Amino acid sequence: MPGAGAVPGGGSVPGSAGPDGDADAGAAFEKALRAFEGRSAATEGVGKDPVNEAMIRHWCEAMGDAHPAYRGPGAVAPPTMLQAWTMGGLSGHQGRSPAHDELFALLDGAGYRAVVATDCEQEYLRPLRPGDVITFDAVIESVSPRKTTKLGSGHFITTRMDVRANGEPAGTHRFRILKYAPAARPAPQEAAPGAQGAAPDARPKAERPRPVVNRDNAGFWEGVADRKLLIQRCGGCGTLRFPWLPGCNRCGAAEWDTIEASGAGTVYSYVVMHHPPFPAFDPPYAVALVELAEGVRMVSNVTGVRYDAVRIGMPVRLEFLRVDEELVLPVFRAVEAPGAGPGGEG
Ligand code: ZN
Repeated sequence: MPGAGAVPGGGSVPGSAGPDGDADAGAAFEKALRAFEGRSAATEGVGKDPVNEAMIRHWCEAMGDAHPAYRGPGAVAPPTMLQAWTMGGLSGHQGRSPAHDELFALLDGAGYRAVVATDCEQEYLRPLRPGDVITFDAVIESVSPRKTTKLGSGHFITTRMDVRANGEPAGTHRFRILKYAPAARPAPQEAAPGAQGAAPDARPKAERPRPVVNRDNAGFWEGVADRKLLIQRCGGCGTLRFPWLPGCNRCGAAEWDTIEASGAGTVYSYVVMHHPPFPAFDPPYAVALVELAEGVRMVSNVTGVRYDAVRIGMPVRLEFLRVDEELVLPVFRAVEAPGAGPGGEG
């Protein structure tokens, strides 16, 4: 693959600072961003494992790649594994420089708080074989002028990693992200007829995905059909568990029965989904991890409040939502705090 220097996507908006800045501040900001070009992001990184058959086999299984070149005596690694050999895992790498964190802090401070990976490019200079020792350096290759995309305006950051095998150049890996300020999304009632925001109403709505019902969780969905939320209880040690599993994680017993949840719970945690949009879901919406009064937690939706009013600790109460003719889902309605006004439905 050729190493193109061009930055994809979006029209340039020159001479502007952060999302709300003036032109002079904008020029200074862009200069400060460009000063990161050429700064090291990692030096003398060392792959945590040499190229090895086990990682190659796992990769090929995950990718569904049965090519014989990646198996047996004389095997090579799939070229697209290039970056895999450099990954630091949860514990990270030595030799990581602070430039990347500094650049992110500068962009965060200017309001470009969101990040999305956009694309990567790789070049291969020699095959990698089991036993090869991987070393690498990484550099911030470019920071783009401000670009406007469908997600919002921001700056593309391209990081180039040069990978060596036993000290010889083996390939390059370019990784590009967009640090951006999310575009404001018009509320549905403000969208002009025929405008993009109104389009979903004009199309038949996609069906909400069906739950996967199997031998291990069929009883749960039978409970839902009877408007009951059933929690499994271990026959050995009495531990409650959710989601449903064939055995107990605590004592290993396979015997179990169920108890019916009282329906009381609180929001233990939540996220608000903005992007990507999935058919049948209308972002933004809140996805909550609800802790039931019985102590187990489940992922569901909170109804009765706007997505941006969901809070950790918010009391909620189980109800059953008929989504369509076939599908009923347990969801949780926000319980009004004493003294609060009527909750607006988003
Ligand atoms: Zn148990």
